[in-house]
Amino acid sequence: MEPNLILDYMQRYFYSDITRDCRFRWTHLIELQKAIRHFEPEIIESLRADLGKAPQESYMTEIGMVLKEIDFAVKHVNKWFRLKRKPTPLSIFPATSRVIQEPYGSVLIMSPWNYPFQLAMIPLIGAVAAGNCVVLKPSELAPHTANIIETIIKEVFPPQYVSVVQGDASVGEALLNCNFDMIFFTGSPKVGRIVMEHAAKNLTPVVLELGGKSPCIVHKSADMEMAAQRITFGKFLNAGQTCVAPDYVVVNSESKEQFIKYLQIAIEKAFGKKPLYNEELPRIISDHHFTRLLRLMKGEKIAVGGEFDRAKKKIAPTILDDITWESPVMQEEIFGPILPVISYDNYDRLLSRLKRAPSPLAFYIFSEDESAIKDAIHTVPFGGGCVNDTVMHLVNSHLPFGGIGNSGMGKYHGKYSFDTFSHSKSIVRKLHYFDLRLRYHPYDEKKYKIIRKFMK
Ligand code: NAD
Repeated sequence: MEPNLILDYMQRYFYSDITRDCRFRWTHLIELQKAIRHFEPEIIESLRADLGKAPQESYMTEIGMVLKEIDFAVKHVNKWFRLKRKPTPLSIFPATSRVIQEPYGSVLIMSPWNYPFQLAMIPLIGAVAAGNCVVLKPSELAPHTANIIETIIKEVFPPQYVSVVQGDASVGEALLNCNFDMIFFTGSPKVGRIVMEHAAKNLTPVVLELGGKSPCIVHKSADMEMAAQRITFGKFLNAGQTCVAPDYVVVNSESKEQFIKYLQIAIEKAFGKKPLYNEELPRIISDHHFTRLLRLMKGEKIAVGGEFDRAKKKIAPTILDDITWESPVMQEEIFGPILPVISYDNYDRLLSRLKRAPSPLAFYIFSEDESAIKDAIHTVPFGGGCVNDTVMHLVNSHLPFGGIGNSGMGKYHGKYSFDTFSHSKSIVRKLHYFDLRLRYHPYDEKKYKIIRKFMK
């Protein structure tokens, strides 16, 4: 069906007000959870087929996160939905004030390939909890997962409520040409700009969840062994194809050698001596990205790894040493299992460099020095991050997730998703029994004095 016709159909359904009923949303979220549990083996199989993910990793970073997010929404949606009374200032007395959370209407959600299940489903949960209808466009680069998403959606929702539209960039463009009430996009800053251009034509509200180069500082006060272990986890999860993976590490120059040794130990512990033969190591999504990643490694000093298998599209977890800020690998988001290590001597100068760089989605610091931690968190602009860990801030549904500047705008997860997919409508209700006449013409000196007093 043509995107415009789907939207037409959906708008009529939305205007019937059926999705305004909180119980209706709640029931569909419960049904969605049941369907995901039912299709769990197929989801795991699809993620294996698209990205070579191990079942444990698929559960931990995709299915489990989605089920948890539904649990959270189901538990709280009633409270989020309820009308909120607000205080009323004396200047508009007698009156009551409240906020009504209203769904936008028909929402377009576009998702990427790297966590193809989770990054399509978590925004969907927020959109449904808030009472919207949804067109969901998964990434064409993870076709098996896109198919199972479509099957699940068809099982749970009528097509006029939630529909999956599959296809490549041309389908994405066709959807962007429709007049949706809101667009939620996860992907690259390059396509994010295209999304915004289309949205500008109709003044459509947009959320952009983008990527970028997320730094990781290992301060001289850090527990180096623990830092290496946790950085290895966050970086090589999904073979580095994670939007919040530490893109590169900056380590104090005196500790660099020791730190790289710890990284080598941690990588060997996780993936063995021959990572390319390890079934748990995911593969690179496409030939294009595989070739791009090899280009980034070319000519650099490889401290660990460096092996690759073009037929299997696998690259061993790789550490690059003696990298400078000017190296080619530092000029773009890596999005693969390559970790450049840069050394620093002056901490303040490092922070001021990071402050001027395009704002990343995530930021990590390993340190036991409170003032070093505080300085870094306050100086560097970033979406979200961790102290003495990587990636784990994503797991907490109480925390907002989203970028800033080059890494995007808007936030979601938990209650933040509900708010993002809702318009907050403010209502002041005036009462009849008394009317303060100060605001009405004609004005005089006495009224003026009282108004000034009220509005102090
Ligand atoms: P992408 O921008 O290429 O594609 C994202 C979506 O947009 C896909 O559905 C794709 O089909 C569609 N698309 C591509 N070109 C289009 C066009 N010209 N017009 C309309 N639609 C188009 O991103 P990707 O390669 O799938 O994902 C990788 C990027 O996403 C990285 O930059 C990564 O950091 C970022 N990312 C961000 C997050 C986050 O939560 N902030 C999560 C995952 C990935």
